[in-house]
Amino acid sequence: MERLVCHDCQKEYPLASSHFRCTCGGLLDFQADWPPVDPIAAGDGEGLWRFRAALPFGGAEDRALVASVSLGEGGTPLLPAGGAEPQLWLKADYYMPTLSFKDRGAVMLALAAKKFAFREIAIDSSGNAACALAAYAARAGLTCHVFVPASASAAKLRQIRAHGAVLHAISGNRSDVAAAAMAAVTENNWYYASHVYNPLFYQGTKTYFWEILAQCAQRGVQPPQVYILPVGNGTLLLGAYQAFHELIHWGLLERFPHVVAVQAAACAPLYAAWRQGASVPLQITAEETVAEGIAIAAPPRGRQILAALREMNGEMVVVEDDAILAARADLAAHGIYVEKTSAANYAAYRQLLACRPEFAKSRVVLPLCGAGIKSD
Ligand SMILES: *Cc1c(COP(=O)(O)O)cnc(C)c1O
Ligand SMILES: [Zn+2]
Repeated sequence: MERLVCHDCQKEYPLASSHFRCTCGGLLDFQADWPPVDPIAAGDGEGLWRFRAALPFGGAEDRALVASVSLGEGGTPLLPAGGAEPQLWLKADYYMPTLSFKDRGAVMLALAAKKFAFREIAIDSSGNAACALAAYAARAGLTCHVFVPASASAAKLRQIRAHGAVLHAISGNRSDVAAAAMAAVTENNWYYASHVYNPLFYQGTKTYFWEILAQCAQRGVQPPQVYILPVGNGTLLLGAYQAFHELIHWGLLERFPHVVAVQAAACAPLYAAWRQGASVPLQITAEETVAEGIAIAAPPRGRQILAALREMNGEMVVVEDDAILAARADLAAHGIYVEKTSAANYAAYRQLLACRPEFAKSRVVLPLCGAGIKSD
């Protein structure tokens, strides 16, 4: 049975509910009892739906629903970096329908809302998560309310508007915007399609990692030893945790790979906590950064992210804006045009290589999360 379970007190809620938090205040996780699915052997379905046997809405009864909401998400290329970096692979999710990996999670949330007969959904985000959800909501025939900070990026707002979403500009910080969204959701009985609070999102992002394993096997190369992952709200990092945790639970993987989590130096509450061995994000004063997509001063799942990173044998690094911009220019000079935020990952790789030359021997995967035209 698929269900929502409180991360703190284990109280269970049905998937069809509009709860986005436990009555104890805890955040909800998703649980299911799927039989083992080997990502290398899984094959029935297109894009990320080849893993349908271990995905929500993957059953035969939902095939028509999925076909009506899917935009062809998943199945993105794994590119060898080539040149001087023969062990480096780039997983290019900027090829996704709305040009970022957020489509993997957004499709799950739109499917949930449609299946559970909600007509209106809401999200708070100024970035790629809102672009993705607005597109999938439009595809599914749902009205999408997007709560944004008054300072959101123009290119992303244009994309959100183009899909017909209703924009609600809220003054204040990200937490104020989230609070406004939650209040409206509760008052109007909308579906809260938050990429942060709604745990179905991570069922989508886990497919990112299963695809990488399948692609490596297809090419006859060993799976990656290191994943460099950007972290703001942790939607990709928690997807990694889901992906590898399930494989370990099924006996298909021995241990977690090494994960390097990346934050922008100007906004690094998780890095600050990590360095001190703290279990919750530290209170910081966020400064401006070109990596706006990972600039989250108070990530609601911060405690969960830090715990997952510890369990995954992880580490954290921060990168400066000038290194991010240089990394972006370098990728573009090699034909790869990503948004500024997404270049933080490559900047982190180069930084690690500079201080640990032996790192060049590791098989590393670097995510290319969002397309270059997304940056203003
Ligand atoms: C969402 C996103 C990330 C990761 O951010 P999280 O808040 O940790 O999910 C990184 N890069 C880009 C381009 C993104 O859109
Ligand atoms: Zn609880």
